[in-house]
Amino acid sequence: MADLLHVIGEALEAYWLSPLSLSVLAVCVASIGTLLYVFVTNAQNPKLRVSLLTGLYALSIFFWAFVGASFVLCVSQARMVAYARNGVSFAVFGAVVGGLAASAIISLLVWRYGNAAVIRKFTPRNPAPNETWLQQYVDLLGKFERVPGVRVRIVESNDALAMAVGGAHQTILVSSGLLALLERDEIEPVVAHELMHLKHHDAEFKVFSRVLSRILFFDPFSKFFDPAVHREREYLADEASGRTTGKPATLASALLKLVDRAPPAQSAWGLSIFGPGTGLFSRYPPVGERVQRLLLLAEILGNRSNSGNSSSRPAG
Ligand SMILES: [Zn+2]
Repeated sequence: MADLLHVIGEALEAYWLSPLSLSVLAVCVASIGTLLYVFVTNAQNPKLRVSLLTGLYALSIFFWAFVGASFVLCVSQARMVAYARNGVSFAVFGAVVGGLAASAIISLLVWRYGNAAVIRKFTPRNPAPNETWLQQYVDLLGKFERVPGVRVRIVESNDALAMAVGGAHQTILVSSGLLALLERDEIEPVVAHELMHLKHHDAEFKVFSRVLSRILFFDPFSKFFDPAVHREREYLADEASGRTTGKPATLASALLKLVDRAPPAQSAWGLSIFGPGTGLFSRYPPVGERVQRLLLLAEILGNRSNSGNSSSRPAG
């Protein structure tokens, strides 16, 4: 036993002191650093930031998969790594291939099954006869925004929830608690906000990064960048909803009603339209800021329609 531990120790030492394994780590860290730099210096370009974040995720999965595969190889093939000619090179090569394969498989599985898992968790039902107007509204909006075939399903819950789930069957989940809390006029821009998440593919990304940040719970990158992109996407969905429905102020009033409620159950954090937390690690932007931006938009849209009215008036 002591002999085996000694061999494993030698293997780990030979492996992690080899220029080959260190250069793989260095390339990884340098790539992450470059993407981070572009990310931080492009605060005004949310679409680019989301692409960069996807790259950062891919790199950080590979980084940890490489470290994990290296460890497994050093332990299982300790004698080869420690003493064989080219043993370390073989192990590094194996860890790179293993790391790439593991990253690809993890990403595919999360992408493929993450959305369905979210829907299963909330066990939604079909809309009741007095709720079918929601589906009709989403059909109409989806036709205009070119996001066809979105299903509306109802979650029985006292929490006020509204969330978009992408994948093969795009779905907007609305809770009975939200329907009871808000007026129909307020529900419409909330549902439009969720449709915009589907249109911009935020919904898939939200689920992807949420599941991934659980798998990579020890990874510092996902702790910081996952919430950052969520916050940007919320602003964008608010704005797009306000523009399409022409009711940004109504969405602001809906948000203020949601704030007054207790925060929803943890299972909905990061998925629903509103949740707890502020600051760098919150997936939600400050509500005050969201409301302020919506009211500004209302003022801009209002001014535009007013000036439209006055110019259409006959002169004199
Ligand atoms: Zn949202």
